[in-house]
Amino acid sequence: RNIYGIDPETTLEKSLKAAGVKPEEITKVLHTHLHFDHAGGSVKKEDGKLVPAFPSAKYFVRKKNFEWGSSPSDRDRGSYIKQNFVPLMEHGVLELIDDATMEFMDGISLYEINGHTFGQQAIKISDGAQTLFFCADLIPMHAHVPLPYIMGYDLQPLVTLQEKKEVLAKASDEDWTLVVQHDPEVVAVKVERTDKGFRVKEKLFQL
Ligand SMILES: [Zn+2]
Repeated sequence: RNIYGIDPETTLEKSLKAAGVKPEEITKVLHTHLHFDHAGGSVKKEDGKLVPAFPSAKYFVRKKNFEWGSSPSDRDRGSYIKQNFVPLMEHGVLELIDDATMEFMDGISLYEINGHTFGQQAIKISDGAQTLFFCADLIPMHAHVPLPYIMGYDLQPLVTLQEKKEVLAKASDEDWTLVVQHDPEVVAVKVERTDKGFRVKEKLFQL
């Protein structure tokens, strides 16, 4: 509980309410991957049964990640909790995105990432002028911006290294805002190339 910072007082439903959004107004839920700390909140209990938490929504995840998460290895079995996604499949609201898909909808594109787990996807939202890149577990905290800093959880660390190089090069050159979802200090950062490699240039939205 402490490692993951699980706080039962803060729920997705409450956060959406604070932003003025009702669960039934959500029409699309785009999963980066099905690890429990990312897919939790997808379902809720109603009359003792697990049902989709967003009754009007289609949920999306990469096919590769769904297949891996449905039968993970002994190494990462603890990261996939089937109650988070099997009920979505049973209700017919989970759509599987195949390997070739890079565009989700106008202005929202997907980057398949396979170092952390198989078939994770980062999400790039761009209006042509500004780009917001949701790193998910490719760069979970701003401390992971320098290339050698890679999580011990990753199934293929050298693949993560290559994937980070590609993303950080584009992020530096095109001034992307990188959302670092697990960071306790900041919501997002901008990065730059230095003599020592990629580094944080600017911290945005301090927590
Ligand atoms: Zn993860």
